Amino acid sequence: MPPAPARRRPAPKAPPPRWYRTERGRRWAVAGLLLALYCATPFIEVGGHPLLGFDRQTLRLYVGGVGLWLDDLFIVLLAALLAVALILLVTVWLGRVWCGWACPQTVLLDLRDQLRALFPVRTADGRAVRLAKRVAVEGAFLLLNLVVATTFILYLVPPRELGHYLATATLPFWVGATWGTIVLLFYGDLLLLGRRFCTHVCPYAKLQGVLFDRATLVVEYDRTREDDCIDCKRCVKVCPTKIDIRDGLQVECIACGECVDACDEIMRKVGTPPKLIQFHFGSTSAPPPRVLRPQVVVLAAACVCLTAALVHAAIGRAAVEASVLRDRYHLFHVAKDGRLMNSYTLVAENRTAEPVALTCWVEGVEGLELVIPHNPVTVKPGAVRKTRFVLVLPAGHPLAPGNHPVTLHLMTAEAEPITADAATAFTVPEAEEHKVEEHGKEE
Ligand code: SF4
Ligand code: SF4
Repeated sequence: MPPAPARRRPAPKAPPPRWYRTERGRRWAVAGLLLALYCATPFIEVGGHPLLGFDRQTLRLYVGGVGLWLDDLFIVLLAALLAVALILLVTVWLGRVWCGWACPQTVLLDLRDQLRALFPVRTADGRAVRLAKRVAVEGAFLLLNLVVATTFILYLVPPRELGHYLATATLPFWVGATWGTIVLLFYGDLLLLGRRFCTHVCPYAKLQGVLFDRATLVVEYDRTREDDCIDCKRCVKVCPTKIDIRDGLQVECIACGECVDACDEIMRKVGTPPKLIQFHFGSTSAPPPRVLRPQVVVLAAACVCLTAALVHAAIGRAAVEASVLRDRYHLFHVAKDGRLMNSYTLVAENRTAEPVALTCWVEGVEGLELVIPHNPVTVKPGAVRKTRFVLVLPAGHPLAPGNHPVTLHLMTAEAEPITADAATAFTVPEAEEHKVEEHGKEE
């Protein structure tokens, strides 16, 4: 008689893991941190300016307290390119970690699921419970949406300004309309689309199929341990997108890791080693993949280059930007005593957090005198100041008719001065034009 097959001895039952050892615990920690960051950022100021926000009056984008102007948009463009390269790199390397762990859609839907779990709208035997309970749950979720939408508005309308509008009941129509629209959009999306947004609408989700390779981090059911599965379907029940990960990786999987925790719990209960479902780089049945694949190296190199370019552009950014505009309607004027004058407007922009006093002088034409109402020109922090000035050439100058390049220099008086230059031209008219101008003035 053949001996009876040896029964596998169940592993000793382990106690439930601490929260930071479960995917759910880690995911909530990340989500909480990101939510706190998102809500706190509009209240943080650096040098009197928002850490991150848009100033509607001056049309400036503030990043790290530094105001970016339209001519700084290449910095914003570089930052956007860096963000795209980072997203691609993270996706190739870590798969859908953004979708499951950081995407606001997922975080808010998780919060809604928690609310619904706290106040179940159906009793255990399936009977519908009181309407009041459902209203309370949806009301709490709407309130949560209101908080998120308000935080979004605070990036456009600073907290003090919004507080003033609300306290004095003078909320501008556009602020109220934008606010209401965002609440409706958020709430409508989460209520009507929910997780279907991730599986059917989100373009990033569609992109991932192209970006994944054989070594990307994915959630995988270990086929070599199929015998350990007791077919309890717990992994399917907890899955927010309701897929069965045992059928293999699917486009609907947002890598939240809920099935990993659920299956680990079952494995613990039946005394079998955990990680029947697990996060894994590539397939568990394939040899360990290389981390440094060509696409990872190329994307990492792109991120490094873009970061270097961004830092260089940010450091090399002028503290004071100056430009000179010609007086288009009155290019020159010849005084009765023969002095020749050209009129201009200096546009000085102070991009620092401190006021600046800029001493101005002109170079380029011998004997040219700068006549300006105030010298130095003071400019408040983050402000633009326009100052009209005149360049005067003494009578009897030897300059030929035409445009002569001149440069207006500006400099502060500190030990490490801030300097700026603005190029323009001084116009010497033809002799005939002299007469016309003089004649015109006499009339
Ligand atoms: S939770 Fe684990 S044991 Fe249960 S069906 Fe899923 S894979 Fe099998
Ligand atoms: S299969 Fe697992 S990791 Fe993927 S979405 Fe479902 S629960 Fe989350």
